[in-house]
Amino acid sequence: MNKEHPDVDAVLFDKRDIESMVKRMGEQISRDYAGKDLVLIAVLRGAVVFMGDLMRQISVPLAIDFMAVSSYGDKAKSSGVVRIVKDLEMDIKDRDVLIVEDILDSGLTLKYLMKNLASRKPASLEVATFLWKDIDGKQAAVNPRYVGSHCPNAFVVGYGLDFAERYRNLPYVGILKSEVYA
Ligand code: 5GP
Ligand code: MG
Ligand code: MG
Repeated sequence: MNKEHPDVDAVLFDKRDIESMVKRMGEQISRDYAGKDLVLIAVLRGAVVFMGDLMRQISVPLAIDFMAVSSYGDKAKSSGVVRIVKDLEMDIKDRDVLIVEDILDSGLTLKYLMKNLASRKPASLEVATFLWKDIDGKQAAVNPRYVGSHCPNAFVVGYGLDFAERYRNLPYVGILKSEVYA
């Protein structure tokens, strides 16, 4: 077990959990994208850690690119407002695009992104999300094809996920103590 950060209440997924989640996703993706023209698009900045691990578990040829959107700011609540801060370098027309996300909550961020990317006419467009907060019977605005794990409805940090740009470097995913953001 990793030494816990004092601001973390509980570890949800440790290094070994993460490794097996990512490996399984990589194997699924490798099977599904054999013979295709795969482009992984990570959503900055939270998804970079997952992207780095996931791409090394995919055995088929691929390209990577990055987008930055802003939806949460430094707050723990979704604003519902999404804005492209950095666009792709790559032309994705006729390519098989897989969006790589850290965590899917309301799905508003991804819904906006997918609509935007679909207008560029990729051959296919799917989502791989490391975590999915699909609890309380609420429907996410998008349906991810690949999911690392479901996640409780708590504010989590680590493995790329931040609060006010901190905690991204924790090698595990943990629940942030509420007094930190209260
Ligand atoms: P959505 O638009 O799906 O509600 O929000 C998605 C984005 O909000 C994620 O990509 C992530 O940046 C942020 N987010 C949602 N839930 C959490 C969480 O529990 N912890 C952290 N650190 N970010 C979250
Ligand atoms: Mg994200
Ligand atoms: Mg964030």
